[in-house]
Amino acid sequence: MHHTQLYINGEWRDASDGSTAPVYNPADESVLAEVATATEEDVAAALDAADGAFADWAARKPRERAEILRRAFDIMSGQREEIARLITLENGKASADAMGEATYATEFFRWFSEEAVRIDGHMGHSPASGARTLVHHKPAGIGVLVTPWNFPAAMGTRKIAPALAAGCPVIIKPALETPLTMLALMPILEEAGVPPGVVNVLMTRRSGPAVSQMLHDHRARVVSFTGSTQVGRILLKEAADNVITPAMELGGNAPFIVCKDADIPAAVEGAMVAKMRNMGEACTAANRIYVHESVEEEFTAALTKAMEGLQVGNGLEPGVDVGPLVNAATRDKVAEFVKDAVARGARVHCGGEAPEGPGFFYPPTVLSGVPTEAACMHDEIFGPVAAIQAFADEEEVVRLANATEYGLVAYVFTRDMAKGLRISERLDYGMVGLNRGLVSDPAAPFGGTKQSGLGREGGHAGIFEFMETQYISTNW
Ligand code: NAP
Ligand code: MG
Repeated sequence: MHHTQLYINGEWRDASDGSTAPVYNPADESVLAEVATATEEDVAAALDAADGAFADWAARKPRERAEILRRAFDIMSGQREEIARLITLENGKASADAMGEATYATEFFRWFSEEAVRIDGHMGHSPASGARTLVHHKPAGIGVLVTPWNFPAAMGTRKIAPALAAGCPVIIKPALETPLTMLALMPILEEAGVPPGVVNVLMTRRSGPAVSQMLHDHRARVVSFTGSTQVGRILLKEAADNVITPAMELGGNAPFIVCKDADIPAAVEGAMVAKMRNMGEACTAANRIYVHESVEEEFTAALTKAMEGLQVGNGLEPGVDVGPLVNAATRDKVAEFVKDAVARGARVHCGGEAPEGPGFFYPPTVLSGVPTEAACMHDEIFGPVAAIQAFADEEEVVRLANATEYGLVAYVFTRDMAKGLRISERLDYGMVGLNRGLVSDPAAPFGGTKQSGLGREGGHAGIFEFMETQYISTNW
């Protein structure tokens, strides 16, 4: 029913030692599938396959690569419901949320099909020597793509599409919690015309050694990682040995600022998106909600009403808005954050108690009066818990918002656009949602400052993560 094997050189194969690992459905804890887990030999085969495919793929005309990507967009668009279903099965997010991800994931193929034919260089005239400098971009080489479980489709296509547009072959290593969606994309890419070896997928129980093996092969030239800051640091160190280009999308600790002049219903709507997309299991999730003291009561009451209105359950069932968290550890960590905040004086407006299993459910929860010392004001909650703290003035909230080692995304709600832009500029974040609870967009450069990452995905920048700039200095 599902593809469960490794996908190397356009072929499905078992692990060289026959080993497998289970993939669970977090809604009922049943085993969905047993998937192959790659060995050292399999990793070597994927590197050989990617290397063998590189020269031909890099030599294709940009228009040809673009049209293959565009076909991938068309074919995947027609299969979004099946893909969304698979996302719900292995990740847990509810159907509408999964459909949102499937659409978002699909759009990367369209966007990068359009970017593939616009990789411009330029010609300069050296002021001192008079030489002409011709600047152009070349595909970098094999891309090693490592993706997390929270967006099983989109975090992959956000890397595969620009790599292919640039002319690079890739090896993608999805998280072992959620490999089925990525495997399901391979027949789509095949049908679109992606040649064997250009995209290879391997999941493994041995993610540390497997990725290290790839990063120590001189043919790998880019490592693009989305996941925790902790693993990102390890990969940066690994990448240092062969001086491999790193692109890192790491953790976040997003502040969500509601000014006294905000449109409160709009701010609540924005908070629902920023908090509840993917049950809060998103690096972009609103983690610390700072509300001006004059509107805190009104905002908290309205947010509580909206959160209480969400139906929790198996994400495949009609009417369900919120599915389970991905695994027991994630659920238990969320419960710990709530316990800690309450012990430090936070007030619970709704939720706050995990139900009995099976399934890793946690109810939508609203906390107010959360003190700065609470753990959830420093670490990613990664769950459906809205932690609210009141603030008195702009200076204070900007200082609080920036007081973190993370810098992925911040949100600001105000009716005064001049003030909104002023606060946005002062926030040390790669992205700001100004009167919007969603910033993810294939056409925009996604990424963070400080320990939230290096580089940008999407927009015009995304393709250049997979290209080397060369200039030719010449006299004529
Ligand atoms: P994770 O533990 O860092 O895992 C991410 C990926 O890295 C998975 O494929 C994982 O594989 C692999 N991995 C784990 N240890 C590794 C190692 N030592 N060497 C090489 N690869 C390794 O993150 P997660 O728990 O799956 O995801 C949650 C985190 O991702 C959160 O912190 C979140 O903020 C972040 N995230 C960031 C973004 C962004 O764009 N900035 C987007 C989504 C998520 P296995 O799990 O199979 O071992
Ligand atoms: Mg993990």
